[in-house]
Parts: sequence; structure tokens; C-alpha cells
Amino acid sequence: MSIKIIPQQQLEQQNSNSVIRKIPLLFYPSPNTLYIHRAERLRLLAKESPFSDYLNFCATIAEGQANIVKLEPIQMDLSDAVHKDQPPLSLDVLPLTTLWQDYLTILLTSFSQTTSEITQAIEQLRQNSVQQLQDKALYLLTGKFELVAGNESLFIWSALSVYYSQLASQIKGTAIAENTDKHWFCPVCNSMPVASVIQLGNNSGLRYLHCSLCESEWYVPRVKCTSCDNMQDIQYFSLENELAAIKTECCEACHGYLKILDQDKDPHIEVVADDIASLILDMKTEEEGFAKSGVNPFIFGY
Ligand SMILES: [Zn+2]
Ligand SMILES: [Zn+2]
Repeated sequence: MSIKIIPQQQLEQQNSNSVIRKIPLLFYPSPNTLYIHRAERLRLLAKESPFSDYLNFCATIAEGQANIVKLEPIQMDLSDAVHKDQPPLSLDVLPLTTLWQDYLTILLTSFSQTTSEITQAIEQLRQNSVQQLQDKALYLLTGKFELVAGNESLFIWSALSVYYSQLASQIKGTAIAENTDKHWFCPVCNSMPVASVIQLGNNSGLRYLHCSLCESEWYVPRVKCTSCDNMQDIQYFSLENELAAIKTECCEACHGYLKILDQDKDPHIEVVADDIASLILDMKTEEEGFAKSGVNPFIFGY
């Protein structure tokens, strides 16, 4: 099963499975609150983490993203984008403009006092021409991560993300289930997930993948590899016990893994922040022979 977005008025004409229609398939992001919440969570996790400097650095970026949403919001009419047969924010439907580069400039000015390593990355980025930055953004958006230096990728992706999350929040389209197997790419922007989240409240117990770029969340059934669809021999690792809120879901068929973060067990979890803060679990899982099948923009090159 995968998820497709169609204009709201078309929904009645769709003959989709009635059981699956009861499950909310897609949540668009709320950029007005998302980055503030993420920054707060990162600052809190930094207090007790061996990676506190890094978590505080990520918090500064999230605060920069929150300021952009507040001070430089974008509005775009995306009504044509939902009429295509592809994710509405994918590059084929919506070519990338240079607007995100204004966001990059703002993000780079968020760091007044910082380490020499970050100062160097910022200087390096400022030497890029508009075209060079555009090329690098397109490499990242098409999964060619190795073509961009890790310390530049993080800032470029963060600027792109705050651009795409605002667009995603403005889409007037409804998600329907389709009988295809491309469920590990975001149905809104076609990017890879950061991790899975088990939601709280009305959707308690349901699993969603969280997009690394546009911050949307889409439904995927549990106990299933989110990378190759395998449903057998799925193993879970955690640093504590089987009741831990953060685990890695590992697949014996493709040897991929992705974290699964359970808000039922810890309602304060924020997917991107907690994914970075639990880096030791990634190391342990990789020692067992599994490779991460998702992307966390804050861990590019670090
Ligand atoms: Zn997305
Ligand atoms: Zn798999």
C-alpha cells in the first residue's frame, strides 16, 4: 500500500478500501509550532547528553527555522500541484526556485558566536554562487548526498526543509491509499523518512513515517520493514529493555533499519530531536550489521 494525494473534491469518486479510509493516512506539518517544539526538545535533551554541544547547535538551527516561519513566511498557490500523478512537491511537479537561498542566508546569520568548525562551514557556504547552491540543493533532493560536503549539507537541507514544510502545510489535498509499494517515500515531496513515530491520542498505536524534508507524516502498518516491505524476521533493538520508547526496527531481508519512536511510551518525544539524541543506538545497531534506511538532516557528515 502507498499513499497518493488528490484534490479534496475528487475523494467521493474514489472507490478506495473502506477499512483503510478510517485511518488518517497523512498529516501535513504545522511549521508554526513544529520548530519551536523541536528547539525546546533539543535544549532539554542537551542537558543530559554526551552530545550536548551538538544538540545545542541543532537547537540553534531549529530556532532559526522557527524565526523564518514567523518573519519570512511564504504563500504559494499549489492547487495545480495536486492534480498531477506524482507527489505534489516533488521536483517533477514543482521545480525548485531560488527562494530557499534567502532562508539559507538567514540561517547562517543565526550563528554569531560559534566554534571554528561551524565558522568555516559558514564561510565555505558563503563563497558559493547562486547556481552552485542550486546545484547542491538539487543533488541533495535527488539523493546524491555524497556530492555535497557534509558540513554544507546540513545548512542547505535545513533551509530547504523550512521552505518545503511551509508549502506542505498549504496543500489542499486529501490522501488516499493506493495499491503500489512505494510507501517509504514521502507522498507529499518524495523524500526519505527520518524515522517512524507511534502516535498518541486519537491515533494511538498507529505508526507513521516522518518526512526528513517537508515534515509530513504518513501511515505505514506496523511490524513491517519500511524499506523493502518484508514482514518476517523483523527484530527490534533498544538501549534499555523491550519497553523502551526508542528502538531500531531491523530487517533480516534487506539489512536496513529505521528507528521507531513511541509517543505512547514517552509523549515528549520529538522525532528529529530524539533521533539525533539516540545516536548511540544507531552505533549499536550498525555493529549488528544493519544500515540506516532513513535520513536525518542533522547527522549529515557528522
Ligand atoms: Zn515530505
Ligand atoms: Zn527490509
